[in-house]
Amino acid sequence: MKRVRLKQIPSVSSLLTEPGFKALNELYSQERVVAAIRQVLAKKREQLLSGRENVVLTADALLQEVKAILGLAEQPNLKKVINATGIVLHTNLGRAPLSQRAIEEVTMAAGGYCNLEMNLASGKRGSRYEHVKSLLCRLTGAESALVVNNNAAAVMLCLSTLAKGREVVISRGELVEIGGSFRIPEVMEQSGACLKEVGATNKTHLKDYVKAIGEATALILKVHTSNYRMQGFTKSVEIKELVQLAAEQGLPVMEDLGSGILLDCTAFKDEPTVRSRVAEGVDILTFSGDKLLGGPQAGIILGKEKYLKRMQENPLLRALRIDKLSLAALEGTLLDYLNERLLAEKIPVWRMLQKGESELLPEAELLAGDLREVLQDKAEVEVVSGFSEAGGGSLPTVEFPTCLVKVKPLKGNEEGWANRLRQNAPPVLLRRQSGCLLLDPRTLLEGDRALLKAAFAGIEGE
Ligand SMILES: *Cc1c(COP(=O)(O)O)cnc(C)c1O
Repeated sequence: MKRVRLKQIPSVSSLLTEPGFKALNELYSQERVVAAIRQVLAKKREQLLSGRENVVLTADALLQEVKAILGLAEQPNLKKVINATGIVLHTNLGRAPLSQRAIEEVTMAAGGYCNLEMNLASGKRGSRYEHVKSLLCRLTGAESALVVNNNAAAVMLCLSTLAKGREVVISRGELVEIGGSFRIPEVMEQSGACLKEVGATNKTHLKDYVKAIGEATALILKVHTSNYRMQGFTKSVEIKELVQLAAEQGLPVMEDLGSGILLDCTAFKDEPTVRSRVAEGVDILTFSGDKLLGGPQAGIILGKEKYLKRMQENPLLRALRIDKLSLAALEGTLLDYLNERLLAEKIPVWRMLQKGESELLPEAELLAGDLREVLQDKAEVEVVSGFSEAGGGSLPTVEFPTCLVKVKPLKGNEEGWANRLRQNAPPVLLRRQSGCLLLDPRTLLEGDRALLKAAFAGIEGE
């Protein structure tokens, strides 16, 4: 029996005469096509010898497998997902979706040539850092600005330039880990600066800083504890006091703001805005492009020209430099900031964060209606109240009240449903809580509701 089946395996030469296989010759060399055919046929042979029943040997089926080996059937691994988690700046999902203007600028820069490092007025070589410098200064009041690959790179460049082989004074309460292996002490070590920790975990006083400052001190560093808050018996030194101390000692003071709010908003009372920090006289500030700014991955450095000039001359900058696509997206985002009043309409992150319950309730109800329609008796669907999160280690204590769609599976369990939805095309990411799935309309983008309806329609209860 096996022998009979083995004889049905077509030969390489006969397959090569089939039209589908012939067409492959237009894309690949004969050697690669033959090697792929051999690989597929060897697998078929093995399957037959191991006694497998339903081994398909038609030319069409074999062609599909050959194409898969050659990479023709490959789908991108990086794909759109639906973020129904309600976490606006979800680091695992790529943080901030870009504004329309930012997308247009990226598209321009991606598909053609641009004046990335060309001064069009003089016709001479220009600097990529110039494109957003005056815009950043205008928006924040800073003297100078420099942009790099991300905020981790920004911190690294600042420390390497200003404090290599010397000491950086920092409070023990601010030795933060951001996740994804960004730890302030480790970044400092890599930059060649020495950490001089002061104070206790919960309390640091001005006198602790004073005591630590000596001959070897290069910099006073403050790190915004962006992803947590200390409560209770705590004390940290205000940035104003540090600025004053640094001035007295003739040292620069730097602050890693993490998220960096560019808006002049007072809605988040614990969060310093970039403009207020510049006004308070901080010498160097760093923050991310893709957190609350709502732009692409980037690290933004603001501060006094005399320090930033030295950073521009640091050879490390070449390794940390921003690429043209991110730069284009950043400029697009910053241009949106010039129309302050329209920000909540233009920057998706701000649009999502500013949505109130009056807007979210009807959205949740529409989604709940769609899901009830396709799920019928497979699940109970209701709208409940809850909270969304800013995410990305930003605004950890700010609550964003929202309306959630709660789906309680009656067939199968919520874990199985969540797994299947995550493997849907496009994948759906949501929250799970005590036997239920929770979907937050706050982070849904245009067209997502229809895709969610289709994804749930495809679920089979077990
Ligand atoms: C997020 C964050 C970083 C890292 O920023 P990336 O842009 O992700 O490199 C560094 N410091 C603080 C305080 C942060 O919140």
